[in-house]
Amino acid sequence: MKSNYITKNKIGLLALCLILGQVLLAQKNDEIQLRKIYDAALTQGKSYDWLNHLSNQIGGRLSGSVQAQQAVDYTKAELDALGLDQVWLQPVMVPKWVRGTPEFAYFETDPGITTNVPITALGGSVPTPPKGLKAKVIEVQSIEELDVLGADNIAGKIVFFNRPMDASHINTFDAYSGSVDQRGSGAKEAGKFGALGVIVRSMNLRLDDFPHTGGLSYGDTPLNERIPAAAISTNAAELLSATLKLNPEISFYFKQNCKQLDDVQSFNVIGEIKGSTHPDEIIVVGGHLDSWDLGDGSHDDGAGCVQSMEVLRLFKEIGYTPKRTIRVVLFMNEENGLRGGKKYAEVAQKNNENHIFALESDSGGFTPRGFSFDSSEADFKRVESWKPLLEPYQVSMLVKGGSGADIGPLKNDTIVLAGLKPDSQRYFDHHHSDNDRFEHVNKRELELGAAAMTSLIYLFDVYGIDGAVK
Ligand SMILES: [Zn+2]
Repeated sequence: MKSNYITKNKIGLLALCLILGQVLLAQKNDEIQLRKIYDAALTQGKSYDWLNHLSNQIGGRLSGSVQAQQAVDYTKAELDALGLDQVWLQPVMVPKWVRGTPEFAYFETDPGITTNVPITALGGSVPTPPKGLKAKVIEVQSIEELDVLGADNIAGKIVFFNRPMDASHINTFDAYSGSVDQRGSGAKEAGKFGALGVIVRSMNLRLDDFPHTGGLSYGDTPLNERIPAAAISTNAAELLSATLKLNPEISFYFKQNCKQLDDVQSFNVIGEIKGSTHPDEIIVVGGHLDSWDLGDGSHDDGAGCVQSMEVLRLFKEIGYTPKRTIRVVLFMNEENGLRGGKKYAEVAQKNNENHIFALESDSGGFTPRGFSFDSSEADFKRVESWKPLLEPYQVSMLVKGGSGADIGPLKNDTIVLAGLKPDSQRYFDHHHSDNDRFEHVNKRELELGAAAMTSLIYLFDVYGIDGAVK
């Protein structure tokens, strides 16, 4: 009995040692792979060159524009050159809004005494009358304040939304979401009280002279009741507010001749490496190829596109053969319609594709800190177990939260969605403005982001997800 017991115990111990050995070996292998990824990304990276072309040879890529089509052609050709298993264009109809001639604005303190104001039409806005719009201004801090003031105080005026982004937030995206309702719904809401137009303080934490555009929604407001809306720079907003305190009777003038045209055809750009053992389990990495027309869209979201392309290139470069299918998707029309993201999910569902993981980079090309996850508890626990592997690269900030607008439509009960989380402190100095330019992207920071994304995709490729059908 006794010897039998000892034998059993010995076998148990041996099995335990074997399992432990395997775990340690796998961990060692993961460490080696991540090191290879980072070495290749930081010494032979391609993302910065790609971004240089997208930004400086093509420029701002608003949906439906010539530049957006050039970006489609360019990235498709570059993916073709990587020798992936398949590269294709996925057709999608997108809205086409054009800015027209540059906007012009001033406020008038006394007849003929004017101060020019940096201004940009909000994406999707209707134009002002051809000669411009001039009216008295009423400043508000919120949409709710419109209810308090009522039509008596608002009708016939230009409503000036001036609630700043809250600088006390550490994550600047929280400050953004706390203020962006003014830009998104300000025109729709002010129009209900008879306002003639809307101007919004730019979504920018810093005081400067760049007006920041961005999408607005009129909801179901009939076409003939839509009022024009524009953003003014933060410096101009401060000056206008101070001037209004001295003299509430001053008037504001702005002129814009933007318009909404018919939808046009565009494309999502897609490339993939077929999985060697689980080809039906699809992992997506992407960013959005369209951008606003101010600046060159380097941070938003040229950076995310080239980083996503780099993920597949790095796997090729280090000779890694993925088990699952790794697909890069450059989505069209995130900024003013999300048509690309919706189309991609629609086609994936129609083809009965099994997406297990999707990662988007759409928070700028700054130093990566980690990732946010929209997943089950079990999958988040699994991700947390990878923390020691990510710590040496300072990308181990793993939090629950949102992922990316374009991959949102893929959400179901099993998929894990994630977003790259770079340092967010300077993002809104650039976002949607003429200040979003290539010179503000740091090569090394961009490459660190690409390496972090590749590492995470590698880990999901090796270990899969909790709910994956094998
Ligand atoms: Zn973006």
